[in-house]
Amino acid sequence: MEMEAKTKVQNGLIDAKKLKHCFECGICTASCPVVELFPKHYNPRSLLQKTSLNINRAIKENGLWLCAWCYKCYKRCPQKVKVPEVLASLKDLAAEQDYLRGFEEALELIQKEVPLPAVCCYACFHPERGRVDKPTVLKALKQFVANCEHEEVSPMPKAREKKIAVIGSGPAGLAAAHDLAKKGYSVTVLESLSKPGGMLRIGLPEYRLPKSVLDVEINHLKDMGVEIKTNVTVGKDVTINELLQDGYNAIFIAVGAHKCRKLRIEGEELKGVIQAIDLLKKVNLGHNIKLGNRVAVIGGGNVAMDVARIALQLGAKDVNIFCIESREEMPASPWEIQDVEGSNVKMIFSVAPKKILGKNRRVVAIEFIPVELGDADENGMRRPVPIEGSGFTVELDTVMLAIGEVSDLSFLPKDIEVAEGNTIAVDLDTLETSLAGVFAGGDVVSRPATVIKAIVTGKRAAVSIDRYLNSKDSATEERI
Ligand SMILES: Cc1cc2nc3c(=O)[nH]c(=O)nc-3n(C[C@H](O)[C@H](O)[C@H](O)COP(=O)(O)OP(=O)(O)OC[C@H]3O[C@@H](n4cnc5c(N)ncnc54)[C@H](O)[C@@H]3O)c2cc1C
Repeated sequence: MEMEAKTKVQNGLIDAKKLKHCFECGICTASCPVVELFPKHYNPRSLLQKTSLNINRAIKENGLWLCAWCYKCYKRCPQKVKVPEVLASLKDLAAEQDYLRGFEEALELIQKEVPLPAVCCYACFHPERGRVDKPTVLKALKQFVANCEHEEVSPMPKAREKKIAVIGSGPAGLAAAHDLAKKGYSVTVLESLSKPGGMLRIGLPEYRLPKSVLDVEINHLKDMGVEIKTNVTVGKDVTINELLQDGYNAIFIAVGAHKCRKLRIEGEELKGVIQAIDLLKKVNLGHNIKLGNRVAVIGGGNVAMDVARIALQLGAKDVNIFCIESREEMPASPWEIQDVEGSNVKMIFSVAPKKILGKNRRVVAIEFIPVELGDADENGMRRPVPIEGSGFTVELDTVMLAIGEVSDLSFLPKDIEVAEGNTIAVDLDTLETSLAGVFAGGDVVSRPATVIKAIVTGKRAAVSIDRYLNSKDSATEERI
């Protein structure tokens, strides 16, 4: 067995060269959202160290299976060690040797610690994401999801009189609602769309997260006693101040980031130029959508990768992704890029759209120019700089803009401070905003991130809201 493991390293299945570059600075651990969920069981730095010391012991660690594939560690690593891929190779080795105890232990931890465990198994911890597709592993996972689905959930006793409103039913809002209901609070989730789930419903494609799994876990929350009101837009149907006046003792804002950034070039207003998030909403809420045959997706992130594949599913014949980055610089996760490369979508790197051309107010073509990324500005963004070379024009029927999302904060009262990048300013430990009793988390604070990050902040908000309400109670008692 030891020989086999060594061969795996030598063959490069485990990035041994890169592993040697690791100087154990711990940035991977400090930047990982999963560490906050499983502080005793998941520590990327120590997993790398164990891998270097004794690979046969490393494959027995349950922590291997708790990586959520967000690549935050890799993005921050000064030595560019691809921790998720090292862990995937170890998982593969564990599965090859039929050592599944670590995986089973990880599933038990997920069941115990993570709200929406089956959803998270698909969206965050799915072994196939690391190309670990051994039948034994997938069977164990399927069994786990089936057990979660058949779990009987009873209403939580309402041990406390306090009412909490959660604005937004994405993973951050649902995680907070789950933990607050478990603590005995009355929780009402307000959601502007017709179905709950946030990006879990409208962003993640069916092949990554079956909606039936999401529905089961949302029903579990309702069975626990969480009230979910859909088609309620805070800011339009009710305001935050009205919620506070109505007797809600605390509010958690988790409205995500649903507004697409604009290109700010000529022709953006033409028919046939659509925003990726709007398309995703429509497709996932059951609208019948017809795209033209020739589709250009503008953007190099995960959303661009997803909508390109959705365009193919909707019947487009010729789908091309155009992005300002080179292949290596693309912000999309490596597994998303690989998935797209395995489909019929083409990618064109290091180009920026200059002008969208139209006829009878409908898009017909786009002009592109070659670019490279310049130095980072004060917000850490690298802007495209035109370089020498010939531009070109592409004829097409539909343009999908996926160049990043920001939050719509027009519903906030003035007393809630807004931070850079149209995010809500919070105390990073407690997630409390500048308005007492109002907390915020998920993408609306972090900017677009991941499901696991949203869940972690939802859980952290639940702890802070509980502390806040308890401290208010004890202050009242003292006064009496
Ligand atoms: C296409 C796409 C694919 C993705 N794939 C993955 C993936 O595979 N893995 C992964 O980890 N992450 C993925 N992400 C990112 C992930 O989905 C988000 O980071 C995460 O959902 C953020 O959670 P949230 O709870 O903060 O917000 P959201 O999930 O965005 O939920 C916010 C909710 O608030 C509602 N809302 C907004 N304004 C109001 C208002 N005024 N009143 C009431 N309700 C309101 C919205 O309708 C929405 O339902 C993907 C994102 C997209 C767009």
